[in-house]
Amino acid sequence: MAAEQIAATAVEELNPFHIVQQEIRQAVEAAGLPAAVAEILQEPARVVAVSFPVRMDNGEVRLFRGFRSQHTFALGPTKGGIRFHPQVTLDEVKALSMWMTLKCGVIGLPYGGGKGGVICNPKELSQGELERVSRGYIRAIAAFIGPDVDIPAPDVYTNAQVMAWMMDEYSQITGRPVPAVITGKPIILGGSLGRNEATARGCVIVIREAAREIGLDLQQATAAIQGFGNAGSIAARLLSELGVRVIAVNDSRGGVYNPDGLDVAALVRHKQATGSVAGFPGSQPISTEELLTLPCDILIPAALENQITAAVAERVRARIVAEAANGPTTPEADVILTAHNILVLPDILANAGGVTVSYFEWVQNLQQYYWTEQEVNQRLEALMVKAFRSVYSTYREKNVTMRRAAYMVSLARVAEAMKSRGWL
Ligand code: NAD
Repeated sequence: MAAEQIAATAVEELNPFHIVQQEIRQAVEAAGLPAAVAEILQEPARVVAVSFPVRMDNGEVRLFRGFRSQHTFALGPTKGGIRFHPQVTLDEVKALSMWMTLKCGVIGLPYGGGKGGVICNPKELSQGELERVSRGYIRAIAAFIGPDVDIPAPDVYTNAQVMAWMMDEYSQITGRPVPAVITGKPIILGGSLGRNEATARGCVIVIREAAREIGLDLQQATAAIQGFGNAGSIAARLLSELGVRVIAVNDSRGGVYNPDGLDVAALVRHKQATGSVAGFPGSQPISTEELLTLPCDILIPAALENQITAAVAERVRARIVAEAANGPTTPEADVILTAHNILVLPDILANAGGVTVSYFEWVQNLQQYYWTEQEVNQRLEALMVKAFRSVYSTYREKNVTMRRAAYMVSLARVAEAMKSRGWL
């Protein structure tokens, strides 16, 4: 093997766009779907690249750049978050929009995938600047979005307030209130009850179903969670309500471990008070690598991409890995986890609770009738269990990984829609 080839294989392929293209191609083949499905899905149907000027607080004008990727309209309008981050790239936004297609498909939502991003560092912007960036981006992409075209939502470093400004800007442009143009809004502007907890709730529902399948008693089970933000901290609370002992968690500033189980409610208060889980009384510090390789039943990566690399995967000792985060496991690591008989609940299934309740928000906006939190949770439960069942039966019948099975279930739906439209 030539030296460059050795170097190339030694470095794991981490470009998310190439990863998802390859995963789609392989799943289309494994599912016996027409090759044209992979051909059509290898690129987004539409990508919008924009630049827009924003007046900063010091009076200067700065030009911001952003993107919106709309992967496929086979199943309906596109749907997916908007990310504000200094390292946003077009490839990343395209890949994330493709993952959204797969995520919507696995649950059976009437959407294709979308994703947007603005290259900026929100931590360096004042509230006023953040608002002007949010409004500027929406003015730049307004012609390409809408409740029946493409419906954005929050993603990394965007939140309900940003969604409120964006919805307001779009409504001013169109001259009428359009709450259904965007989800993840504050409740008063048409946000859905239960949305805040939805990702973690969906994740815990599929963990519960998977545990039943592999004969894991949750009352006796232990869990380690990487990331203690929206997804991780709420998953910790919901798991502990089911009797699971949460023995380790971390965040960007440190990790904590207690083999007897952490008091999750007290830990949430500690994080609120100090800004981190680190230093939680009665716990020992733990590094990220130690956390990911801790002997436990359930490991939940709920932080960033590419955390479980091949080297980490060799030492993971959990029975279930539930991907609350998007893309936390590299393709090489995935193969290793499977070889070690670890059940991986893939991101497109395990964190699909968020987009599912975003869908509920859109439905409620369109019908202008709002559900109770209990109704939202019941509907989420029904869709998550149904999705888990179809992925798990494909996994058993076809003898593939859970990730491949989830892709196959999802792509079969997209393919059926394409065929009915006469695209294939
Ligand atoms: P968040 O910003 O609320 O929390 C992220 C957490 O990760 C924080 O506690 C942060 O300190 C921690 N973190 C950052 N770097 C870390 C590191 N190197 N080691 C350990 N912890 C680290 O974000 P979130 O909404 O909880 O999202 C987490 C993941 O879940 C992301 O991959 C996101 O794409 C995915 N996700 C979230 C939702 C949702 O609805 N919130 C939906 C789908 C997927």
